[in-house]
Amino acid sequence: MNIAGSTRVTYPSGALAGSSPIVATLRRNGEHGVVVTETPFHPLDHTWPDQPADTGTINGVPVTDCVTGAVEHGAATLYLGHEIPVRRGDPGWHWLVVHLTGEPVGDVGETAALAVEPDTRRALSAGHTACHLTALALNAVLADRWRKPAPADGLGSPDFDQAAISSSRILPGGSLDTYRLGKSLRKKGFPTEGLADDLPGIAKQVGERLTEWIAADAPVRIDAPGPDLAARRTWRCALPEGEAAIPCGGTHLTGTGLLKAVDVTLDLSADGAELTMRTTVSG
Ligand SMILES: [Zn+2]
Repeated sequence: MNIAGSTRVTYPSGALAGSSPIVATLRRNGEHGVVVTETPFHPLDHTWPDQPADTGTINGVPVTDCVTGAVEHGAATLYLGHEIPVRRGDPGWHWLVVHLTGEPVGDVGETAALAVEPDTRRALSAGHTACHLTALALNAVLADRWRKPAPADGLGSPDFDQAAISSSRILPGGSLDTYRLGKSLRKKGFPTEGLADDLPGIAKQVGERLTEWIAADAPVRIDAPGPDLAARRTWRCALPEGEAAIPCGGTHLTGTGLLKAVDVTLDLSADGAELTMRTTVSG
């Protein structure tokens, strides 16, 4: 495979369609892979697989999956998804969006028409925006439980989310975040005694904070230092308390008011070692 650069992506600004030259094609497990110069498709990230891949079509052919690909500079081997032996953004590699289809969509050099399915994208963007807001609200509500100074989030609260997150999954219209409440978190200064009894009150306060932020209709934007897939993008939201910033490779709504309402539930595992936060957007 002869690859000269990383794929440029337009989804961070909300793009849903585009047309772009095909720069590579491949066969993998009976499927056809296609790489273009520039795409609106969001692929699953191999390092932090939070937001699922976009669906849609290329030249009218359904895209069955969209994954991250990587080729080392000067090399010919393309690695896909979990095969990639380095972390996202390694500068010695080209980072590619690989669209998978059940049939060929064109040859190298031809222009492909790319169209993302808008309803699923919007539902994922809503889920992702709600996920970040809920994390910030949880940080704020848990702030007075910390017993040692801890790194703060963009609003000045100890960043519980960053300190404890073990996985984050964006769903259409929601998210599911899992936090590890182990010894290392207690050593960082977050005691977990009494947490189970306090969870209903914590969830209620998180919900109240979200209601305020939705009513404020705070603008949301993605800052990108460049157009390449692996550029280190930042989610920024100008909330009444200040501007929050979170590193993020996903897609988002343009304002918190588009969420209408967000419901949050918190559950502690039986052994108390895992906290699950389920976020559901209505409207
Ligand atoms: Zn994100």
